[in-house]
Amino acid sequence: MGNRFLELSKIILRPALDLIFPPVCLGCHDRIGKDIDLLCEPCLETISPIEDGFCDVCGSPLDSKDCEVCWDSKIHFDFSRSVFRFDGAIRQMIHELKYNGLTSPVGWLAERAANYLKVNGIYKDIDVIMAVPLHAVRKRERGFNQSELIAREIANRMELAYCEPVKRRCYTESQTHLTKTQRMQNLKSAFVLLPRVDITGKHILLIDDVFTTGSTVNEIARILRTAKPAQIAVLTVARA
Ligand SMILES: [Zn+2]
Ligand SMILES: [Zn+2]
Repeated sequence: MGNRFLELSKIILRPALDLIFPPVCLGCHDRIGKDIDLLCEPCLETISPIEDGFCDVCGSPLDSKDCEVCWDSKIHFDFSRSVFRFDGAIRQMIHELKYNGLTSPVGWLAERAANYLKVNGIYKDIDVIMAVPLHAVRKRERGFNQSELIAREIANRMELAYCEPVKRRCYTESQTHLTKTQRMQNLKSAFVLLPRVDITGKHILLIDDVFTTGSTVNEIARILRTAKPAQIAVLTVARA
């Protein structure tokens, strides 16, 4: 119902809303022209795409030869990349989406992610797209799963199927105050494979908003492996 109302409001209410609330830049909240897509010029300049100098496996920017994310953990996905660094207006847009319930960044971010997939040959064989699931309680609180919205929009743009082969089983508390070992233990029981979704032999693309330590996408990949997909690729909008 919420989504349908949003869709409807875009068509019917948008012109009226533009008069009452003129569009503002999502980065700095200054007024922008109606034809400007969410961000003003100065805010666009704060965005940094990740183009080279990253680890082939996990996509982390590399300062030296060895990747700090990969070297001491078993990586279960085939490869992961991120479109942008998690700073500037990208950080702001993801914050608006996650914590202020503003869904307008979804289309903007999904468009850039879809373009990234199209020009990066390693993603050429993708069959199905999925998102990092959110626990039902948190999804109800937030009203939506931001990664799911982005993944569904990417699937639409790429004309690929969206699927949900994994469910988040228990409410995992905020991970920020935990050590790496505690985080891994907490995650071990968090996801469960749904046998009714057949991903055997498929090239699957897992989407998330931000790659921080990579432990969440890695755990989901570990669970997915038991269903024997041909490939597990990961793409996140941003990299912390
Ligand atoms: Zn701005
Ligand atoms: Zn790495």
